[in-house]
Amino acid sequence: MPVVPLIPVRMRRLPTVGGLAVPWITLVTPDGRVRFGVVNARRQQAAILGRLCQICGQALEARIVLAMRAVDLRRHLAPEPGQHPECAGYSVRACPMLSGRLNQYRSNPAPVDPAVGTTVGDSERGRAGQPAEPWSLVWVSGYRATTDPENGLPAVLVLPWQVLRVRPIRQQES
Ligand SMILES: [Zn+2]
Repeated sequence: MPVVPLIPVRMRRLPTVGGLAVPWITLVTPDGRVRFGVVNARRQQAAILGRLCQICGQALEARIVLAMRAVDLRRHLAPEPGQHPECAGYSVRACPMLSGRLNQYRSNPAPVDPAVGTTVGDSERGRAGQPAEPWSLVWVSGYRATTDPENGLPAVLVLPWQVLRVRPIRQQES
């Protein structure tokens, strides 16, 4: 039986599905369906600009954790908003993509909901069906909101001296 991770205190206000907390940034359709893996674009932008945690939706503090791939680290650009350390710990335990419990990106991109607006996920950036890239959790002391020049999407710019620690997320055997 899969183990359902304990939900940190600051995430307890989030709705849950099957015992898993639904991240604040996750798209929920107007009729209440939770679209895990699909991002609410408005909240993503609000989180990056307002320095909010993408998981619990609350203000970030002195230590911010970013999920980044090798390509993101080379470009000093994170495609996702920051997280509190404990929220990042939870998302690693609960998110199949980050913890390596799924070996491939979902090959059927979710349809865009015109009422809310969704941002492109990795599956829609042309990597559907490809092996998932390894991610690291990167502890930073700050960041600047910017726009990724490659795709025009909101992104997080981290300068080298703001990086405190890089910890690869260990791929787990499923
Ligand atoms: Zn948080």
